[in-house]
Amino acid sequence: MAALQTASKHMRAPRQAASKGSRRELARALVGALALAGLVACGSGGAPNVAAPRPQSGPESTQSNEPARAKRHMIAAANPLAAEAGLEILREGGSALDAAIAAQMVLNLVEPQSSGIGGGGFLVHFSEASGDIVAYDGRETAPATATPDRFVDANGEAMPFFDAVVGGLSVGVPGLLRMLEAAHRNHGKLPWRRLFEPAIGLAENGFSISARLHTSIAADTHLGTFDAARAYFFTPAGEAKAAGTTLVNRPFAETLRTIAEEGAGAFYAGEIARDIVRTVRGAARHPSDMTEDDLAAYEAKARAPLCLPYRFWLVCGMPPPTSGAIATLQTLGILQEFDLGALKPDSARAVHLIAEASRLAFADRDTFVADSDFVPVPVAALLDPRYLVERAKAISPDRSMGRAAPGDVLAQSGLAAGAESERGISTTHLSVVDAGGNTLALTSSIEGTFGSRLMVRGFLLNNQLTDFSFLPERDGAPVANRVEGGKRPRSSMAPTIVFDGSGRPVLVVGSPGGPSIIGFVVKTLIGVLDWGRNIQEAVAAAHFVNRNGATDLELGTPIEALKPELEALGHEVTLRVLSSGLHAIAITEDGLLGGADPRREGRALGD
Ligand code: GLU
Repeated sequence: MAALQTASKHMRAPRQAASKGSRRELARALVGALALAGLVACGSGGAPNVAAPRPQSGPESTQSNEPARAKRHMIAAANPLAAEAGLEILREGGSALDAAIAAQMVLNLVEPQSSGIGGGGFLVHFSEASGDIVAYDGRETAPATATPDRFVDANGEAMPFFDAVVGGLSVGVPGLLRMLEAAHRNHGKLPWRRLFEPAIGLAENGFSISARLHTSIAADTHLGTFDAARAYFFTPAGEAKAAGTTLVNRPFAETLRTIAEEGAGAFYAGEIARDIVRTVRGAARHPSDMTEDDLAAYEAKARAPLCLPYRFWLVCGMPPPTSGAIATLQTLGILQEFDLGALKPDSARAVHLIAEASRLAFADRDTFVADSDFVPVPVAALLDPRYLVERAKAISPDRSMGRAAPGDVLAQSGLAAGAESERGISTTHLSVVDAGGNTLALTSSIEGTFGSRLMVRGFLLNNQLTDFSFLPERDGAPVANRVEGGKRPRSSMAPTIVFDGSGRPVLVVGSPGGPSIIGFVVKTLIGVLDWGRNIQEAVAAAHFVNRNGATDLELGTPIEALKPELEALGHEVTLRVLSSGLHAIAITEDGLLGGADPRREGRALGD
């Protein structure tokens, strides 16, 4: 418990004793689960080989799909300036966590549409020295006075999605800084204040607006209607500032300097907190009920990671309030019943099986997963290998099952599945491995592009509360993910670390993408673990996603060609832009291999 004993008073200790995994527990869990070979098919009838093969650079590497390479340390993040800030910290002897904080603060500045201190996130951290893995929850909370009808209109209908997004009502109490501060107490090496210097320097001296940021500003019809955002992102003539324009953000530099000197407490009480509350309560559209007490009461939480064996590996991720790991692990657990390695990568047969497994996982996710501090989430039942073997029996290799139903065993819960809206895709993911072998995955978010569009002191406030189900009931049954005061909205973020049979991390990955995150992460894991792709190839490979509806194939990629074959198997197929931002690191015998999503502007950098 050493790591947790040093946690701040704002980090509530988890309830169960098994609050974190240890290397020994992980290895034991893997060996134990593999020993149940009849239950968890691992492909061989004999004694399982727990000395798992480590992911290798695949034979089919091409120049453009070459991973970044390093021996000592590496960071993969969504913007080159952020990756550089992280690398600077790693070179100074900073820990993975130190590098993540420095990179995150730069991302807040240079990729403001996606994440920042006005939002929240989830962080999975593996400590090499202790073998501990801790899942940190910095998810936003609803104000204490929030009620289930928050997003219900006067006619009892769900508010139109974007109507709810923009303005004060959607803003959750930000959790990112409390989470990073708590993690820094446990895993930081360099002083907290040092980690803010790269972002403060860039905010004061200016940075160049990237092509992606420009496109996001230009495409947004709401941003320019808010004074603070208009003044910062638009020219006086009302045009989106061009790519390449130098942007200076003195208020943000000032905010960061205060937090650097005084700690996260300076954000949660005092002038910054007052300004946040004044901004959301005074919003011209949908004023919020958030109070300074809500900010002062915010707690990040250390939670037990969720881990499940997948063939030779143990895959670990973030428990509720995100559905990320539950759905990822369920999909993989179901797919263990099929020998994906024997199928041609990205073939119709393989995509069919993965889509069907994903349907089953989404049927459970939609019904049962929400903030487990408010709703009993049957996590153990959902991840029971015997249950997943049963679920796998619903999959036919020749015919799609169509819409999947939630599992029978669980159907007694009396819960109804909440509806999920299509949304603007934002969020960011970074992965880090330091010279000491500490490994972390951080996915953070202000939810939609530019969040609520409300800006205060140089940063944007999230719209994370629109991740709640807008309707609290369906057909008279309560929806698990309904709004409640103090509750955290269900997420899909899936920061993930994969371990080999001896408990060593071999892969770290995550992505933005809303509910499609789960499909992006599953595709990347299967690419490396089953198909031997190198990490860059696995990240870049065309996406296919099923959220228990149509099978989405990534528009403009070779995978579109599968449409007729999948339709012949009974899938409804849509071709869609699937905007991921996968940033991943494979830890191999040849050193660290980094993958940065070609769909974004990121880099993997290391030495
Ligand atoms: N708010 C979403 C979630 O927590 C993430 C949004 C995105 O990835 O664009 O699942």
